[in-house]
Amino acid sequence: MSNRVGKTYFCKICGNEIEFKKDGGGPVVCCGMEMTIKKEGFDGEE
Ligand SMILES: [Zn+2]
Repeated sequence: MSNRVGKTYFCKICGNEIEFKKDGGGPVVCCGMEMTIKKEGFDGEE
């Protein structure tokens, strides 16, 4: 299992950012697409 807790997830479509609090096993989805993990020091795509 991947350790997703504490990671920040980012939606490329709408720009939402969420912090992962608990891993229930399901995908993190926004705008119908799986969200990407935002790495430290990475500002995403402007
Ligand atoms: Zn979105």
